[in-house]
Amino acid sequence: MVLFPSIEPRGRLEVNNSKNLKKSINGISYIDFSDFMEVPAGIVLKNENHSIESLFNFILKKCCFEKSLEDRIGFNRKNDRLKIVELNQNHTNIIVNACEKIKNNADGLYVSSSDIVLVIKTADCFPVFLNDGITVGLLHVGWRGCLTGIISNFFKEVYGFKPQKAKVAIGPGIGSCCFKVSPEVALLLDKKYRRFKKGNFYLDLQGFIVDELAKNQIKYILRNNYCTACNDKMFYSYRQEGKDVKQMLSYICKGG
Ligand SMILES: [Zn+2]
Repeated sequence: MVLFPSIEPRGRLEVNNSKNLKKSINGISYIDFSDFMEVPAGIVLKNENHSIESLFNFILKKCCFEKSLEDRIGFNRKNDRLKIVELNQNHTNIIVNACEKIKNNADGLYVSSSDIVLVIKTADCFPVFLNDGITVGLLHVGWRGCLTGIISNFFKEVYGFKPQKAKVAIGPGIGSCCFKVSPEVALLLDKKYRRFKKGNFYLDLQGFIVDELAKNQIKYILRNNYCTACNDKMFYSYRQEGKDVKQMLSYICKGG
């Protein structure tokens, strides 16, 4: 098990780590952010023996916290009260309202309605979960989205989102221990986010995300200590497994 170092709280940030939040139910492993986020939220991890359909049903079950819905698991999710909304992710900085027509290529979702479950897929990129008590959001953040401002775009796009009240959890992604990039990419980020070891550049993408959130007045951040590439038994990793790698499912639902 390799953890990259947790950071000291800086300024107004409340930074924890989520290494103790890993759980397993019926053989499906996931990290549960619900207590911190105060809404159903988490990431379904590497579960090779389960179909994608069973993992979606698991997510619906996690988001069905009304008792009357518990015995309805296994239905066709499109026809039930809860609707899963996904994106065609393409490393853009585009944010869309999940209640409206979904653009083909986007990497961030938000919704204020309680009957929609937001889902994004990652394998080394970072899922970022947001909740201000009115609106929930979910972002797919890699280096391209970071550099083109996907995090700031979220706060511009979501009218009335209250960063000072919001809670944000950063899910597992590739750590600076493993995120080797070309010099051309490394030099696009400020030097505080890059390390040089044994002739190669490595990026601290999570550090960049934390700072972007802080610039947008986010006070409460749950930071993740796992590296997806170091822990390939637990996580899918593009860097470890190549382009045909499966992806993990992050979800958040306003509920209520
Ligand atoms: Zn690593």
